[in-house]
Amino acid sequence: MKAASIVEFVRDTYKTDEFIPLHAPTFNGNEKEYVLETIESTFVSSVGKFVDDFERKIEVYTGTAKAVTTVNGTAALHTALYMAGVQRGDLVITQALTFVATCNALYHMGADPIFVDVSPLSLGLCPKAVEEYLDEFAVLTEQGCTHKQTGQRIKAVVPMHTFGHPVELNELVAVCAKWQLSLVEDAAESLGSFYKGKHTGTIGEFGAVSFNGNKIITTGGGGMVLCRTQELGLRTKHVTTTAKVPHPYEFFHDEAGFNYRMPNLNAALGCAQMEVLERYVARKRDLANQYRNLFEMTEVKFVVEPEYAHSNYWLNAIICPDVKYRDELLKETNTAGVMTRPIWKLMHRLPMFENALCGDLSQSRFLEAHIVNLPSTPVLKGE
Ligand SMILES: *Cc1c(COP(=O)(O)O)cnc(C)c1O
Repeated sequence: MKAASIVEFVRDTYKTDEFIPLHAPTFNGNEKEYVLETIESTFVSSVGKFVDDFERKIEVYTGTAKAVTTVNGTAALHTALYMAGVQRGDLVITQALTFVATCNALYHMGADPIFVDVSPLSLGLCPKAVEEYLDEFAVLTEQGCTHKQTGQRIKAVVPMHTFGHPVELNELVAVCAKWQLSLVEDAAESLGSFYKGKHTGTIGEFGAVSFNGNKIITTGGGGMVLCRTQELGLRTKHVTTTAKVPHPYEFFHDEAGFNYRMPNLNAALGCAQMEVLERYVARKRDLANQYRNLFEMTEVKFVVEPEYAHSNYWLNAIICPDVKYRDELLKETNTAGVMTRPIWKLMHRLPMFENALCGDLSQSRFLEAHIVNLPSTPVLKGE
């Protein structure tokens, strides 16, 4: 398929001659009203009713036991890893094909990543690859799962639901149970995505969601930790709010906490965006369907949700037949004002992770060279 045909399809879909981004936020609900309410009430900062409302709304929507807001998705991941007991010197298994924030969070816990391959089915962490890596390189000792070569403890597994497509969670849960590992889901891209009827981010001990401006809904900047139990949720809230022991006037903090609180101002935006989330997911899925039809019977493979999943199709992706095709497509579409982009560079190519332990990464390498993302803003016109 020629790049010009893709440009024509996208322009036709969005009915504009202007620049078309990958994903733009839209505010045509109660956003202004709620944000104005926080200003008029003066409760724009870390206390206010929208923070609590937003957490309750996410709990209801995802079915998680407890949701805790944070300033952004990276902070949510950082908190989740802290809560999962990751410590300085530990190893954490994750995918090389991810956005850098996944690895930054574990880096700032003082942990080192182990990069394992992704599944071609989900584009996310492959349970079989994790199992094979552990069978070869790990042993259970009294400190738990231990890397045979470095002697470091392997503490957690962090899959990422790439572009909103859920990974094979049941299989990962089984591997984690066998090797005494905590499962922390990077669900930054997958609000609105379900794995076998369960919301992503609610199956591991913790899940991290992002509300950055480019995600399916936004709070400007923001994140949420989804916690498996009420008890973990209460402790998570405690550590994200400076670990202050409640008292009418005295300052006592019982551990070194974070100040990761989401301002009420941002939570107001979040409450309004939650009212339209379901509609956005439906429109994203419509758009994905149209792309799928466009690429049917061509040399380009459109990435579809795994059969076990109901995906939010946050970012539409295609797998190009070869690198030359990809490079020309990127050039021609971007020149024509239709934004497309390659997938992230694999994490072990970045300077801070170049010495990381790696399993076989052949799927990741293939996808790194062939994937292109296409404009994915939900088309809401006429509603
Ligand atoms: C967006 C994103 C994050 C981090 O979210 P921020 O809110 O930008 O900090 C983490 N992981 C992945 C995979 C993401 O796409």
